[in-house]
Amino acid sequence: MCGIVGIVDAGGVSIQLYYAMYALQHRGQESAGITTFDGTTLYKFKGQGLVADVFPPAILTDLKGSAGIGHVRYPTTGSNLPENIQPLNFQFKDHSISIAHNGNLVNTKELRAEFEQAGQIFTTTTDTEVIARILMDEISATGSVEDAVNLCMRRLRGSYSVVMMIDGIIYAFRDPLGIKPFCIGKLANGYVVASESVAVDALNGTFLRDVKPGELIRMDKDGIQCTQVAVASFRAHCIFEYIYFARADSVIDGKLVYEVRTKIGGKLFEEAPVAADGVLPVPDSGTTYAIGYARRSGVPYIEGLMKNRYMGRTFIMPNQKQRENAVRIKLNPIPAHLAGKSVVMIDDSIVRGTTSRRIIDLMRDAGAREVHVRIGSPQIKAPCYLGVDFPTREELIASDKIEDEVRKSIAATTLHHVSLDALIGAVGCGRDQLCVGCLTGCYPLPIDGEVGMVPHVDFVAGTYQADLGSFETES
Ligand code: AMP
Repeated sequence: MCGIVGIVDAGGVSIQLYYAMYALQHRGQESAGITTFDGTTLYKFKGQGLVADVFPPAILTDLKGSAGIGHVRYPTTGSNLPENIQPLNFQFKDHSISIAHNGNLVNTKELRAEFEQAGQIFTTTTDTEVIARILMDEISATGSVEDAVNLCMRRLRGSYSVVMMIDGIIYAFRDPLGIKPFCIGKLANGYVVASESVAVDALNGTFLRDVKPGELIRMDKDGIQCTQVAVASFRAHCIFEYIYFARADSVIDGKLVYEVRTKIGGKLFEEAPVAADGVLPVPDSGTTYAIGYARRSGVPYIEGLMKNRYMGRTFIMPNQKQRENAVRIKLNPIPAHLAGKSVVMIDDSIVRGTTSRRIIDLMRDAGAREVHVRIGSPQIKAPCYLGVDFPTREELIASDKIEDEVRKSIAATTLHHVSLDALIGAVGCGRDQLCVGCLTGCYPLPIDGEVGMVPHVDFVAGTYQADLGSFETES
């Protein structure tokens, strides 16, 4: 999980990168970085913390140039080293290269060992640097970025939406399964690629379309070109983007996330109706689901929990004790709305069970008579290896428990998770378009020790299709 953005704009890019990253802040709060290029020099700035804290306005003025990329990073335990903050920047045979990545590779170790065997050194512990090595080796050998991306798509196993800047040209590519989101927008004087369409909106741009799985986009001051490098036999868009991770106002792979979540809310009522005095969300992640539930059921929507807006996501807390305390500070019940009532409480997911257990306690303390819990995802049964920071099976409350055991453990009156079929129906595409590995334990690609499918991938090297050619190019 992370957010990435790349912009070419004749009028300068640093402020626009900043706003785009602000819009993508929910995708990562641990660190942020921007690199720009003005034709001769790479300007870089990065640091730990939120976008607004890392970049004071004076810094943005110093980040000169009409091309640049940015990254917001999600905290993953043990790797919050300063050298891992992206974009990663390299000087290479008179070329200036920067790269930022959203996703996770499952064959990093093998690839890294191969390079190390050949005498190469690494300066970070990221999989992004492995991607950069493959790209640079191939660009060095053939001089072709397209060939280098083609080689990446043959060699990398995992999820990767990548934005890269070489001498002021922005390249963006997405893995052949399209696991992590990535889209393209048009700006008044240029183009943007970003993890989510809300970043395009924040720049007052026009959303054009998603980067296709297996596609390479090239953008510079003269315009934009697209190449379909690889085509896989199926797609595997991350289901958790729809459930939790993406902003509700984003359009991902053709679907408005808000719409998907309200539909799931309606399904939760259809699948497990209950007579209740009100339906309330766990804010903010449960809000859109609760709206859908209220619409479909006619049960009044109430606010029973108030969120402290100035707190980050509870997962940021590195240990269980801190996570439990964080829930208390983050969410405060309103006893006047809950006392003596039977309520339906909706959240997007139960991971470890910490949040639900604590919230249900708080609601009962505030006088709620019955707390019927409805969850916008099926039970999370298995870890994610492809970019969502899900814990091990041991930490996942549902990995070895049926729903009623989880209900007891969180002390809910009743508990229902949306069914996989209803979830897929709400997204509105075929099951062969989605990665549901965390829900089923079956992954869309081979992963050591797990059950995985083997996609067939065709390579269509070198065929440029200027299918955005109808847009005006900049002079
Ligand atoms: P838990 O307390 O471990 O059951 O966490 C469930 C809560 O964390 C839910 O309210 C979700 O909104 C949120 N959540 C789910 N997945 C993630 C994730 N990968 N990172 C951060 N928060 C998450």
